[in-house]
Amino acid sequence: MKQILYKPGRIFLSVPHMGGHERNYVQKALEDNWVSTKGPNVPGFEHDICQHTNAQHAVALSSGTAALHLALLVLGVKPGDEVICSTFTFVASANPILYAGATPVFVDSEEETWNMDPELLEEAIKAGISRGKKPACILLVHLYGMPAKMKEIMEVANRYEIPVLEDAAEALGSRYSGHQVGTFGKIGVFSFNGNKIVTTSGGGALITADEELAARAEFLANQAKDHAPYYLHSQMGYNYMLSNVSAGIGRGQLEVLEKRVKQRREIYTYYRDRLSDVEGLYFVPEPKTSFANRWLTTVLLPDGFSPEQVRQELEHENIETRPLWKPMHQQPLFESYTSFGNGTSDKLFERGLCLPSSSSLTEEDLAKVVKTLKQALE
Ligand SMILES: *Cc1c(COP(=O)(O)O)cnc(C)c1O
Repeated sequence: MKQILYKPGRIFLSVPHMGGHERNYVQKALEDNWVSTKGPNVPGFEHDICQHTNAQHAVALSSGTAALHLALLVLGVKPGDEVICSTFTFVASANPILYAGATPVFVDSEEETWNMDPELLEEAIKAGISRGKKPACILLVHLYGMPAKMKEIMEVANRYEIPVLEDAAEALGSRYSGHQVGTFGKIGVFSFNGNKIVTTSGGGALITADEELAARAEFLANQAKDHAPYYLHSQMGYNYMLSNVSAGIGRGQLEVLEKRVKQRREIYTYYRDRLSDVEGLYFVPEPKTSFANRWLTTVLLPDGFSPEQVRQELEHENIETRPLWKPMHQQPLFESYTSFGNGTSDKLFERGLCLPSSSSLTEEDLAKVVKTLKQALE
């Protein structure tokens, strides 16, 4: 039997943090035998997501990846289409483009938020159009919970009339110009994976203002079952629904979302303040336009230190850290695809590290991380 063993007292990067009421929703589901993909927690959870994000419609799904896949499909992305995608992201942003039979075109980040550079985006769109391939969709990411430059990006997208899909998997609770991320594009996607700011133990959702898109996503998620007294299918569908038990966990978690955002932001501030005397250590500031959920606190290390060397030193003290995402254009899987670069994501990957950011971390844990990191950077 495969076993997962950790030394006791390990400080993890990001772990689930229950609020307390999850068990009530789950217990009710068990008592009522709603242990399936149907049941009252699912629409309840969708309603709660709308409340928290100010979205008109939410569809609860089995993962953030599934939500991205369905979002591309309902936005009309077809085999052979090109989809613009942030290169600086987790692979789950880009894989759904391949599921849809489309071709990713990667765009690099700007230095302020580390997200899609609006100028490079326009360059990529123009290049596509001149090749006779206008991009079918812009898939941008709000990485580590930091909102992308939505004003500039939406201006470009609107000018070329290209639908925007926001991968807000890491950014639930983040705002830009006072609005929740995920509500700027045609569709926004969240993940409720176990390492995200709140979790359903595995799940995702998409939000949209467009009732038809929501209905179509729900239809495809449920094996594209047509209206008929028997099982009638005229299109290919998927099994992407969220279970009523998982949705119950999600309902409990959304009750504490704001608290979790506050806690993660406090962790960021703690690190930034206690490490302010380490020369050359860089923390990403929050632009005036934005309110970041600070899902993970990220740093760029001073010159002369490699993320891997520092990671190992912290690992030695039983502290989990993680390099920043390796950009998609550097991945063997995506190497052959077109990419519009400016060197930003390459530099971030070479110099960056994610620090333990679980909302359940104690002051003692945080002090240990600070002390160990200071020693590693001496
Ligand atoms: C976690 C994550 C996803 C995928 O979500 P899952 O629920 O794990 O499928 C997509 N994009 C980004 C940026 C993520 O961090």
